[in-house]
Order: sequence, then C-alpha cells, then structure tokens
Amino acid sequence: MDILLKQVRLNDGESLKDVGIQEGKISAIEEHISETANQVIDAAGRVLVPGFVESHIHLDKALIADRKPNKSGTLQEAIKVTAELKPTFTKEDIYERAKKTLEMIIPYGVTAIRTHSEFDPAQGFTGFETILKLKEEYKNLVDIQVVAFPQEGIFKSPGTDKMMHEAMEMGADVVGGIPYNDAPANEHIDLVFEIAKKYDKPIDLHQDFSDEANDMSIEYLCRKTISEGYQGRVAVGHLTALHALPKAQLDPLIELIAEAGISVMSLPATDLHLGARNDEYNVRRAVTPIRKLRDGGVNVSIATNNIRNAFTPYGNGDILQTAMLAIPVAHLGGADDLPTVLPMITDHPAQAIGLKNYGIAVGNKADVVLLDTFVKTNAIIDIPERLYVIKDGKVTVENKKETIIHR
Ligand SMILES: [Zn+2]
Repeated sequence: MDILLKQVRLNDGESLKDVGIQEGKISAIEEHISETANQVIDAAGRVLVPGFVESHIHLDKALIADRKPNKSGTLQEAIKVTAELKPTFTKEDIYERAKKTLEMIIPYGVTAIRTHSEFDPAQGFTGFETILKLKEEYKNLVDIQVVAFPQEGIFKSPGTDKMMHEAMEMGADVVGGIPYNDAPANEHIDLVFEIAKKYDKPIDLHQDFSDEANDMSIEYLCRKTISEGYQGRVAVGHLTALHALPKAQLDPLIELIAEAGISVMSLPATDLHLGARNDEYNVRRAVTPIRKLRDGGVNVSIATNNIRNAFTPYGNGDILQTAMLAIPVAHLGGADDLPTVLPMITDHPAQAIGLKNYGIAVGNKADVVLLDTFVKTNAIIDIPERLYVIKDGKVTVENKKETIIHR
C-alpha cells in the first residue's frame, strides 16, 4: 500500500476504520488493516471526508477588489466596474492572480474545481487561454473543469456566438451562459443548448440572479432540459430570484427543477453582498431557498463564486467558510439540518459537475481530506484544520497548527 490511514471516522456513531490507498485509489476500508504501507497516518479518531468540490468559482477575475471599488455594492455596478477593468488584464496578470487563488483554495482541501472563464470580443481569449494552461499545470493538485463563459451576454455582445464555438474547440469542458444578462433570455438558452449538443458537453448557467421573481427563465430552462433529454447535465448558479416566489408558485417550480435534474449551486458570499441593496428595512437574505430545494429533491450545492472583486470583496478561499456562511443564512443550523450541509460541498457538487468514482469507497479515487475534528456533524462548524489533503493517492498538502497559551 502507498498510504494507510489508521482509525479514521467516516460516519458518526460507527466504529473507526482503517483506509488503505494504492495506485491512486482507495484499496481497502476495514476495521483493522494489518498490511504495511509506505506512509502510515494515525488519525486517532479524526474525520476523513472526500475532497471538497468547489463547483462554481471565477479564477480569472479574483483578487482585483483593490483596483476599482464597487461603491454602491449592486450587481449592476459590479458588472460595470469589472467590464472597465477587463481590458487592462494581461496574460501575466491573470496567470498570477489565478495561480495565487488556486494556492489559497487547495490547502483548504479542495480537490476538484469548476471555474467559469470568460471571454468577449473586447478582451479576446486572454483569460480563457490562461485558465486552460493552469488546468494542465495544476492537474496533480486539483481537477479543474473550465466553463466557456459569456459574461457580457451573447446577443448583447456581437461576435461572442462565434467565440463560444471557438472556446469549445479550444478545450472547454462545459458550456456556460448568463440568460439574465442577455435578451431574449429564452433564445440565449436555446443557443447554449445548440452548442452543448454539438460538442456533447454539459451546461452551467448563471441563472435568475435578482431580488425579484420577474423575468425568470428557470421554468423555460427546465422544460428545454427535459425536451432535449439533458436531465442531469444542467447546473445553475445563484437562482436567487426563486426566494421571491410565494409558496403556491415556488412548490411546483421546485418540482419541475427536480424533474429536469437541474443542479442548483447557491453562492451565498456573492448573493448576500450584492442582493437586497434597495431594501431600506427588513433587508432580505437574497439567497436561493436551499432548504426548500433540498426538501424538494433538488441536488443543491454551496460554492464560493468570487474572491475579492467587485462582486464579492472578501473571502480567503476556504470552502468551509462559505458553507459556514450558508448555515445561519439558510437556516441550516438545526439538529436535522446540520448533517445535510457537508454533502453540499462534497457529494452534491461532485454529482452536479459529473465527477466519476468520487467518495470514500473501495475502488474510488483516493481524493480525501483528514480533518482535525472527531465529529463528522461538526465538520463545518468547527472549521477544522485540514491536516492532510490526499489527491490521486498522494499527499498534496499537510497543515499543522500549533497554539501555545501563555498563562
Ligand atoms: Zn459566477
């Protein structure tokens, strides 16, 4: 064996297990493994989880909050400020910032990332090519999926249609889109499907990012997904407008989202910062209704979206911090709710982005994280040190924390 993890906790209330890793895979899970290994890690009852999945992030526009502030804090100004900055981005600049962001994220136990990488006729493929290059450079540390993302719209920004096809030819893994920032939204969705079908790729849209339930296109997206036979291959980020629907309209829509097999990625760090800016009192939370989606059988994830830019001027790359933020915001702190949050940054996003052989089971990929906590239910609220990150059966990160109290 390459690595033997002794006495890990996989589930609360169960006996501790030894986990063996060989040739990049989990080779054994037993109460006691007597076989020797090149490296033995004594977990002494600590929790082992699958590698975290950061299912929605923008590496290409991270770490630019100090260059041009979004003073109103609105989505409109965030888009405007970022569009003004984009022509100043060079390849080297994007490379350095995206690399730095990856190195913020990876030590926190993320082993897979889906990143939206944008292009438009003004900036060309400067950022997109850089992200593809980083995908290759970082493949031993993290699996990166690149989404071809038309941030400025497709019809609104002539020439982007052709670039979408070029991006797919260049190696994009997923077709992106942003119906709420383009008109007509339904035709935007039709075009995204046309491209996805041509290249046989999944779809991931920035969807219905608004405080109000006006002009939503999620229902059209659900019907289109079903009619095209794309169930299980479509994901949406934000979907904040859903929270503005009364129960009588919300319930059947959630049923439709579940039927269409559309995964929803909640992005609370951004949605809380930009949302409800016009509310002078009783300020709304402006986050998609995570619990209702979960209870309605929808595959829901939590993701970071942006780190330190006009959309989200904070964040340190720790996905556990993002999940922690969602707990009070979405009323997920109750005894029955808390255990449902960890899967929102592990199994659910893994399913949403189509990861194969994911999870702690014999034969699966050895992408795991040893947490410095002894209770799995507390895996998020403890925000524990990620003691070891193992990717493809190799230790990629070790973290040590030493606290000395002087009395
Ligand atoms: Zn996004």
